[in-house]
Amino acid sequence: MYDVLVVGAGPAGLSAAIACREWDLSVAVIDEFPKPGGRLLGQLHQEPSGEWWNGIYETDQLLDKAETLETDIRCGVSAHHIEKTDAGYTVHTNKGLLHSKKLLIATGAAESAAPVPGWTLPGVMSIGAAQVMTNVHRVKVGQKGIVVGINVLSAAIAREMQLAGVDLDSMVLPAYNSVTADHAHPKKVMDGLMRIAHLAPSAFLRFGSKFAKAKWIRDLAVSFYPSGGVKMWGMPIHVRKAVTEIHGTDQVEAVTICKVTPEGAPIKGTEEKIAVDFVCIAGGLYPLAELAAVAGCPFQYVEELGGHVPVHNERMETPLEGLYVAGNITGIESAKVARAQGTVAGLSIVRDSMDAVDLIEHGIESAIQNVIQTRENASIQFHPGIHEGREKVAQSFTAYNSHT
Ligand SMILES: Cc1cc2nc3c(=O)[nH]c(=O)nc-3n(C[C@H](O)[C@H](O)[C@H](O)COP(=O)(O)OP(=O)(O)OC[C@H]3O[C@@H](n4cnc5c(N)ncnc54)[C@H](O)[C@@H]3O)c2cc1C
Repeated sequence: MYDVLVVGAGPAGLSAAIACREWDLSVAVIDEFPKPGGRLLGQLHQEPSGEWWNGIYETDQLLDKAETLETDIRCGVSAHHIEKTDAGYTVHTNKGLLHSKKLLIATGAAESAAPVPGWTLPGVMSIGAAQVMTNVHRVKVGQKGIVVGINVLSAAIAREMQLAGVDLDSMVLPAYNSVTADHAHPKKVMDGLMRIAHLAPSAFLRFGSKFAKAKWIRDLAVSFYPSGGVKMWGMPIHVRKAVTEIHGTDQVEAVTICKVTPEGAPIKGTEEKIAVDFVCIAGGLYPLAELAAVAGCPFQYVEELGGHVPVHNERMETPLEGLYVAGNITGIESAKVARAQGTVAGLSIVRDSMDAVDLIEHGIESAIQNVIQTRENASIQFHPGIHEGREKVAQSFTAYNSHT
């Protein structure tokens, strides 16, 4: 029986494990991926300050610390069921049962789909898969491709692919349908981009600065958007063009793109075919939170956080005794925020596991302040309104606890 079991060896899970090991709790971290590091492994981008954020380096820093503290990290172990027991939790994995007094779920985020006719052809992949192939496995995903979906994540990953020498034709929208909806609506895409442009990497900021902050000017910019696109890192971004079909016999050979109205409706007669051998689809991210539901944790839908999140407080406690959450499972934010949240979760677990309330309380408070500060300074922010989203969940936690 471990003091703590952590599911997910991303920045949140690893930081939490480090905080627990620093207080000598027995900790096991499991991850279904063959390597620890989570989504951090694939990240490489330039901050507005000009500095580079290199996920492999950041992962090594965390792993060095965890290894110095003799943390038990097991990869290739996938959790699929959780039971609450008198002593704590039993986690069912592909390698058998694991028992712990406290459980932290830090399973991160998953990608949403943006279906386009022809998307089952080999050569069509999610933008996250392209990131992992490029930055983790060092595999070139193809000779020439196109990115379908315009958001901060797809822009960051498109840049990473460019740096790796992958040729990208452009970034365009998906064709409008009931699933792609807001992702295919030029005015809404532009709105979302502009509200976060000041937080995004440098070239994205320059892209944003071409458009004023006022909504009416943004709408005008969409209406008179240049037909050649606006270039970012030399690559055209087309918010007034959408991919309507992907073609190929055995694999991707081409896409049809057409011009769309400012509301996303296709304009007949504007179709053109572009030869590409791969397509990256970017439909956004949502919290990967099923395990917390299996454990019996109450949930709340919070749009600003990216979807359904387990109810929790700023100490990363859930209403279930001994169950904690941290990182993207609590809302889609950058790796730096996930790492800071992990430390809060780890310290909360220490506080609840040991007779160290007075000693640790100050540490928890400053770790919470660090999360807030990191969020303020985040160079990548996926959703506008993150503060409002966090506030909603905090209120739910309070309401839930007062009713039980
Ligand atoms: C495709 C993609 C690309 C991203 N790119 C960026 C980016 O460029 N910059 C940025 O700041 N943020 C990016 N993010 C957001 C990213 O998730 C956070 O930056 C950060 O990695 C979140 O940390 P985390 O520890 O919460 O989760 P993650 O880093 O996602 O780690 C979660 C870990 O849990 C493991 N896991 C999940 N389910 C199970 C299970 N059932 N059993 C065992 N293990 C499990 C996963 O294998 C994973 O290693 C990206 C997210 C995704 C999904």
